[in-house]
Amino acid sequence: MSVAKTVHAVCSHDCPDSCGVLVSVDEAGRAVRIQGDPDHPVTRGFLCGKVARYLDRVYSPDRLLYPMRRRNGVPKGPLPFGREKEAFERIRWDEALDQITEKLRQISAEYGPEAVLPYSYAGTIGVLGYGSMDRRFFHRLGASQLDRTICSTAGGDALVSVYGRKLGTDPELFSLARYILVWGGNVHGNNIHLWPMIEEARRKGAKLVVIDPYKTRTARLADWHVAVNPGTDTALALGMMHVILREGLEDRAYIAENTHGFDALKQHVASYTPGRVAAWTGLSSEDIERLAIEYATTPPAVIRMNYGVQRNENGGAAARAIAMLPALTGAWKHPGGGFQLSTSGAFTWDRTALERPDLMLASPLQRPARVINMTQLGHALTELEAPPVKALFVYNSNPAAIAPDQAQVLRGMKREDLFTVVHEQFFTDTADYADVLLPATTFLEHQDVQGAYGHYYVQISNQAIEPLGEARSNVWLFSQLAQRMGFPEPCFRDTAEDLIAQALRVNQPEKQDPWMAGMTAETLNAAGGHQRLKFSSPFLPFASGPFPTPSGKIEFFSETLAAKGLDPLPTFHPPVESRHSAGPEYPLEFLPRKADNYMNSTFANLAGHQKMEAAYTNFLEMHAEDAATRGIQDGDMVEIFNGRGRLHMRARVSGSVPRGVVAGRLNWNKLSPEGNNVNLLTSQRLTDLGGGPTFYSTLVEVRKA
Ligand code: SF4
Repeated sequence: MSVAKTVHAVCSHDCPDSCGVLVSVDEAGRAVRIQGDPDHPVTRGFLCGKVARYLDRVYSPDRLLYPMRRRNGVPKGPLPFGREKEAFERIRWDEALDQITEKLRQISAEYGPEAVLPYSYAGTIGVLGYGSMDRRFFHRLGASQLDRTICSTAGGDALVSVYGRKLGTDPELFSLARYILVWGGNVHGNNIHLWPMIEEARRKGAKLVVIDPYKTRTARLADWHVAVNPGTDTALALGMMHVILREGLEDRAYIAENTHGFDALKQHVASYTPGRVAAWTGLSSEDIERLAIEYATTPPAVIRMNYGVQRNENGGAAARAIAMLPALTGAWKHPGGGFQLSTSGAFTWDRTALERPDLMLASPLQRPARVINMTQLGHALTELEAPPVKALFVYNSNPAAIAPDQAQVLRGMKREDLFTVVHEQFFTDTADYADVLLPATTFLEHQDVQGAYGHYYVQISNQAIEPLGEARSNVWLFSQLAQRMGFPEPCFRDTAEDLIAQALRVNQPEKQDPWMAGMTAETLNAAGGHQRLKFSSPFLPFASGPFPTPSGKIEFFSETLAAKGLDPLPTFHPPVESRHSAGPEYPLEFLPRKADNYMNSTFANLAGHQKMEAAYTNFLEMHAEDAATRGIQDGDMVEIFNGRGRLHMRARVSGSVPRGVVAGRLNWNKLSPEGNNVNLLTSQRLTDLGGGPTFYSTLVEVRKA
């Protein structure tokens, strides 16, 4: 293997770690090795198991390498895995772009441009790939705006309501913590670069506690696994506050100086007694007391919450309540203490320049277009009127697999009168419904810049290799489409380099945030590909105010939420779909979990990843008592069903779930026995904050098949 160059790139998959990556390229221009950047202080030279074998993905024989269109007369929907190509015929890029622009023009003329719906999420979290030229294009077209809620809006809105900004404890300080509470996160599975920091802290005596209904890999490795009932995290956090205040363990000086609404909170949590909270959460009163007291008396104490907690009907309240705990104990003052859900608010990209929302005024609408919540895609494609959705343009996402209430989603995607474009790397479940299918680049094949939601480094992602086949980046695709549509604005001719400079405000130094001051593609490359945000060390984001909230303080009580008719204090409302309201028809709480070895639906088609995940693929994990009462034994085929659909899986009777809970994992539909995955059972009901999905508020029944 002769290496001609080594290129710094960034893993752009939807993961908090945003690893610095070194790609070795041989003289023929082929990537021959991929490794973690040893100089990156968080990546520390290793990649997770998903991406360590990334070259298998880049050079997979199954990559989409040229544009295609559906053959005449072939209905939409899946062909058997591996035979998808038969539904399509190869075309030139010119033909593909012409067909798309002609169709979008025709639909816009007949129904108005809002009949066009873009659908994208975090298939790449590179700043350009996630949202730049694509947004410009759809804004200028006048297409419906997509409310990108599918992952994190409940938690994001919660964090902003309490602190004003999405910041959290620096991962590099976790090694100083003495009490680490991982709440609804599987650090060992999908935040692996935090693990060495946690292990370092544990070597020095720290305790690791995991709160999660499911016994994750991380929970198995913890000192204490607290198996809380799904959707009851708000109650647990409020119960902990009750104990902390009853015992006088709050930090009164910190509260007086830095918080707003303490008296109201104190009164509010008085009714969340350990006994009451125990009944909701399935924990014992003693454990709730112990957890609260240990947390409040072992500084520095840090909470690593992840987004699973907020994907239930009460998820916004849960995120608010958990995020408030360090404000009650003053944990923010201690290096190594605090709370982390996301660090993304530290990166002040010039989104307005990248996305150009002003272009909506230049569209035929001459006003901002309507907004459609991506979590309710099924509804949008089958029930929405005035205008109905007539064109769906999918990139960076696989909605046929990941959107809730799958039967309705697929019914919509199957519509013969819906024109669907899919820009993808593989024949995903969504590609099966495309009219035009376009080949997309991987992060090795295009240029980007990236922050992170789990650390504080800006990184440049250089293009390591030429695009495979005729694959093209999002920036290229939407620039070409805009020019074909005849949009006259010069911004549609911007290159990736231009966009990176705009993202960093290189030509507007006066508008640069001090934390990113002076950063350019050149400075990033000169620094080895990454630069730490320019704040002082140790970075303690909420040690002292003022804070960017309406009151300038950390808000226990939110007048802003009250004005919207929402709970001003986090309040536990048992989810409609939970054991608290379950009738005899569907008594079990279902956790449609993400696979440890895939990234949402990404990687599910690759043999190496499938092998790593095989022990859980198409298995339903059950508690022994729930299995016994249904006459089910380990290994039996079972039917799992509710009013939205039914699936078959093989039962795994294990100690991974508490009584009353069953768990299955996300896979591609076409790799599932009957062509549907776990989202056949989930609903389009929204979270209490942020309009997010409620995947983990799902009731089902199970019987032996
Ligand atoms: S998926 Fe996450 S941990 Fe794995 S390489 Fe990418 S950023 Fe790193």
